[in-house]
Amino acid sequence: MNRETGGNAGPAGPLVMKFGGTSVAEADKLRRVAQLVDAGRECGVLVVLSALAGVTDALLGAGRKAAAGDGAAALADLDAIIERHRTVAADLCGPGVPASIERDLAAAVAELGDLLRGASLLGEMPARSLDVLAGRGELLSSAILADFTGATFVDARTVLRTDSRFGQARPCRDATRRLAQERLVPLLGPGAVVVTQGFIGADEAGVPTTLGRGGSDYSASLLGAAVDAREIQIWTDVAGVLTCDPGIVKAARPVPVLGYDEAAELAAFGAKVLHPATILPAIERGIPVTVRNSLSPEGSFTTISREAASGLPVTAIASRGPVTVVTVRTPRMLGGTGFLARIFEVFSRHGVSVDLVATSEVGVSATVDGAVDLSALSSELEAFAELRIERGRAVIALVGESLRRTRGVPARALTALRDTNVEMISMGSNEINLSLVVEAAEAREAMIRLHAAFFENGGAAGDDGDPADANAVAANGGGMR
Ligand code: ADP
Ligand code: ASP
Ligand code: MG
Repeated sequence: MNRETGGNAGPAGPLVMKFGGTSVAEADKLRRVAQLVDAGRECGVLVVLSALAGVTDALLGAGRKAAAGDGAAALADLDAIIERHRTVAADLCGPGVPASIERDLAAAVAELGDLLRGASLLGEMPARSLDVLAGRGELLSSAILADFTGATFVDARTVLRTDSRFGQARPCRDATRRLAQERLVPLLGPGAVVVTQGFIGADEAGVPTTLGRGGSDYSASLLGAAVDAREIQIWTDVAGVLTCDPGIVKAARPVPVLGYDEAAELAAFGAKVLHPATILPAIERGIPVTVRNSLSPEGSFTTISREAASGLPVTAIASRGPVTVVTVRTPRMLGGTGFLARIFEVFSRHGVSVDLVATSEVGVSATVDGAVDLSALSSELEAFAELRIERGRAVIALVGESLRRTRGVPARALTALRDTNVEMISMGSNEINLSLVVEAAEAREAMIRLHAAFFENGGAAGDDGDPADANAVAANGGGMR
């Protein structure tokens, strides 16, 4: 049963608790989520939920099969997805599946079934339909949790306003804030729990959109900023932000505190634990973001805030790839002016966003996303310069708040990579990241070596060579500021 609580959010605002797919994979995990939410409800809680683990992939997979003309396989996938939710709902809310959830599931079968049949006839799935399909996982998981906990269910599409770039929608911040103040804040008094969805929104005409893969973190911070939350909690399956992707480096260890800039940089450079855009809305309102482990809620976690800069030269290492290195050379750059502007104007006109840049007297190299089609850009650049395109590269970023002020970090990094071909080096203009471009096939080994050099066996995250010191600095909330 839904419970609506009157009154405004208190001066310190409600708590936003976002649970990723890994935290809501099955009924037992949803039970834990309910306990965690209950423990936080004193402040009023806005739960931002992802789809059950793997459901977004499965929905998109069904969409691909339909677009390839295999309607029967797509519908069989949809059946399996619905059945999984039925099992979870019965296990959690049973005996049997609650009538309201049965209705939601039947509506999903009808609507998504029509979409898949239509796509299979057409031989394509329009981006707009794909967003309706991809976003259904969040609506179903959150309906089940709301039913189980008795919390108020709010459809995020009535609050999170976006533009109409289906699959990668951008939020309309002012409209979202207005809608959240109007529709969420009055429900979020002390003791209240509201359950809504990550990842999904709607454009001005009410057409459903999604924020891009992994977008639930972004939803949490957008909604957190819009309701003036006291804290945005990102609950996942690891003990916060770690020094490296634990899938690459087993010895990766938790980072207790991170500055906003450090976290934003790590997310932008591929630390999957946070969607790249998550930090910005929190910065704007000065809201702390914590990254916590739903499998071990009492364990260590990461606090990201303005005050919490790590003070470390290297706080963590991230990598992103594949990227493509585009090198444009022309002798006319020598002593001339305006060539860089001309070159980047071509990138901009073709909508190709540039990441790292390195220049020489006669040329410039830039990295771009490996998935971007460069054919039109290439023919235009080739008309006035020599062009080299190198695919299959990766960017590795060392991120640390005092990186620029600490001697020896690049030397230590390059020593660790003495057997790796480092093709580009760039010190970020914000002075907290040192980025290296290597062959994508070598990136994993390079990360392992860098992690060992900076975080293991006497490898120094601090500048005096003792990693234990680095943790001590971090635990003190960043002593170098
Ligand atoms: P969720 O379903 O909670 O959104 P994600 O899979 O999107 O979870 O993100 C959590 C995962 O991110 C972790 O399980 C881990 O494998 C990966 N990851 C990559 N880099 C890092 C990092 N630096 N710190 C923590 N986790 C990382
Ligand atoms: N369910 C969406 C995805 O898998 C969004 C998210 O979980 O963050 O990409
Ligand atoms: Mg995620």
